Amino acid sequence: MNPETPIEKAFRLMDDQKKALARLRVTTVHDLLYHFPTRYSDMSTLSNIETAEAGSVVTLYGELSKLETKKGFQSRIPMSTGMLTDFSGNKIKVVWMNQAYIAKMFHDGETVKLTGKMTDGKYGKGLMNPEIERAPNMPIDVHDSLFEKESSQNFFGYPVYPETRGVTSKWFYHAVQKLLKQKIHEQIPDPIPKEILKKYNLPGLHTALVWIHSPEKKEHAEAARKRFAFEEIFLIQVSRQKERKEYEELFSYKLKVDPKDIEDFTGRFPFKPTQSQTDAIDTILNDVQKGKPMSRLIEGDVGSGKTFVAATIAYATIKNRPQGQTFGNLQVAYMAPTEVLATQLFENFVEYFKHTGISIGLITGSGCRKFPTKVASAQKPWTEISRTQLLKWVKNGEIPILIGTHALIQKSVDFEDLGLVIIDEQHRFGTNQRMKLAKKEGHAPHYLSMTATPIPRTLALTLYGDLDLTVIDQMPSGRKPVITEIVTPTKREAAYEKIKTELKAGRQAYIICPRIDEPDPDMEFAMQAKSVVSEAKRLEKDVFKGYRIDIMHSKMTPTKKAEVMKKFSDHEIDILVSTSVVEVGVNVPNATNIVIEGADRFGLAQLHQLRGRVIRGNHQAYCYLFAEAKTAKTANRLKAFVKAKNGFELAEMDLAQRGTGDLAGLKQWGISDIGMDAIKNIKMVEFARNEAIAIVEKDPTLSEYPILRSIIEKKGFEIHFE
Ligand code: ADP
Ligand code: MG
Repeated sequence: MNPETPIEKAFRLMDDQKKALARLRVTTVHDLLYHFPTRYSDMSTLSNIETAEAGSVVTLYGELSKLETKKGFQSRIPMSTGMLTDFSGNKIKVVWMNQAYIAKMFHDGETVKLTGKMTDGKYGKGLMNPEIERAPNMPIDVHDSLFEKESSQNFFGYPVYPETRGVTSKWFYHAVQKLLKQKIHEQIPDPIPKEILKKYNLPGLHTALVWIHSPEKKEHAEAARKRFAFEEIFLIQVSRQKERKEYEELFSYKLKVDPKDIEDFTGRFPFKPTQSQTDAIDTILNDVQKGKPMSRLIEGDVGSGKTFVAATIAYATIKNRPQGQTFGNLQVAYMAPTEVLATQLFENFVEYFKHTGISIGLITGSGCRKFPTKVASAQKPWTEISRTQLLKWVKNGEIPILIGTHALIQKSVDFEDLGLVIIDEQHRFGTNQRMKLAKKEGHAPHYLSMTATPIPRTLALTLYGDLDLTVIDQMPSGRKPVITEIVTPTKREAAYEKIKTELKAGRQAYIICPRIDEPDPDMEFAMQAKSVVSEAKRLEKDVFKGYRIDIMHSKMTPTKKAEVMKKFSDHEIDILVSTSVVEVGVNVPNATNIVIEGADRFGLAQLHQLRGRVIRGNHQAYCYLFAEAKTAKTANRLKAFVKAKNGFELAEMDLAQRGTGDLAGLKQWGISDIGMDAIKNIKMVEFARNEAIAIVEKDPTLSEYPILRSIIEKKGFEIHFE
């Protein structure tokens, strides 16, 4: 056996286990060793029935039996009673006064953890009103652990592994222990250079693997976690820095920018740009005049006016001629994640560029358009043209601006001279796509990406480590803020009434169904889809009779989603019941109401993005957070949200407030729980980044770091979304 051995060759696995491991992406022995515990169960507080003393608070694991509900003989107080058998086989009586439901919620034969006070009464020892918790997957047999604990002074706790339907934490424990005993882990080379380990006082890989899976002390577990957190961020950073270096090595146009042109172009807009917009434009124009390909990310909330910035840069680019030519313009490709968005951008650009005589093309899966056209009408200043025709004009440079979806970077699309690529919603596209594009074009276009996804700075520095960052943190003035209201269950009806008033006035509404966290992502999507369908039915029948309701969720095909979105946009639907898939970018100015069910289950940043769906119009917009504020913490979080205006602030708050276990929503970023430890630590991210920059600067091909190079080539560190 070696680290590359497939998992099913190394262990005898049942079908369920195979599937489960595949789901967790554990396919080799190496992956298993990198499947880290999320915590350690502390056995030092564990008692057994025999030795537990009356009057003391104890924690017992065991199996339930004889569960019943009863009424007190004289008092008539309802209660649950039952027996607990611990792993040494001793039994104890358990009583829950006033908690008759416990006998219904739990069943005989179930393994549980009870914490409560030992009593010693007439009928022997008992546990009165203990806290009860299901413990179906004990890390290991408690029975064994008690023995092992006695034999080892240096004992910290048993690892508890993230599990999924089909494999238990206990299985992981035994499997990993077997690998460690056979010293398989010692065959894995350490990707972190020794100097760096030393500098930051991090344990080497082999030690860290032992420490993370069977720590003798808390400090060992912590040191190991820190190391793996660093490792994850460091590897991503090296990979990003390497990509950046490679991109910068390519030929790129050094643009000339005439400030007068820029003033002319921006001066025609019916508004004055915000300081943030002006700063962003200045920074970018400065970049493109350097003779190195620009690589920049603009982060700005929905509605902060990123399109204005993009259009201005596009104009500046087109004002340049290709190298050595006396006619023609440099071209601009503008890519959006969906057809609806691409079409919207096309329409915006037609508006912004109509005075310039510059042609604009649109290419999506369902067709192509060109502006201007000889047969223009007020409603339709463009014509539909064939794909072949469009591609011809793009190729010979007659169309300087091409807007589109993924279709834009297909092989068949050839530009005469592509000067700038703009990507809306950066996270929808893989990071090495621009390399591909550059290779195809034979030079590196300037690259500008834009996102409204509020992510913390540390995460942005990591995920987009190959890009420079510009933040637009001002909103255009004169915007009416969205009226945001926390709606507790008793106020639900009143909120529905207010929405009806708006619907009657001709507005539309989004209703976002609650997040459903399931350990299994497939299950989660299925549940979400189900909740959308059933909520739409309920609303149709009981709440919004006579209104046109439709649904959208992530199980639908992209075409179907686009269709529904179009219907909503054309006001053929009044109410769109949806999961959070509506998050990204489509602009329906008439939709001014959004209800977020189970708002307490969403991250703040995500709530903010959802609310962003309704700030585009001229009408007053409303956001209703349906929530059961179970704790003061939940209530405070939502209150903070009501007040906050900036998504990036909220993203930082999310990161600071949530425990690593709660960051499941952030898994979409492709970073593990342990990596999230690092993301929470700005210092660690900066160290990892600085080291990565230093290495790539000194040795761009990583020739002196063969282990590092091979792991980066193999894993690619492409971040995958959805
Ligand atoms: P996003 O950053 O979400 O892409 P948009 O670029 O779509 O935002 O801008 C949203 C709206 O705000 C558009 O209607 C746009 O014309 C308008 N807008 C942009 N900048 C300003 C500004 N400085 N003042 C007023 N309105 C602006
Ligand atoms: Mg936009």
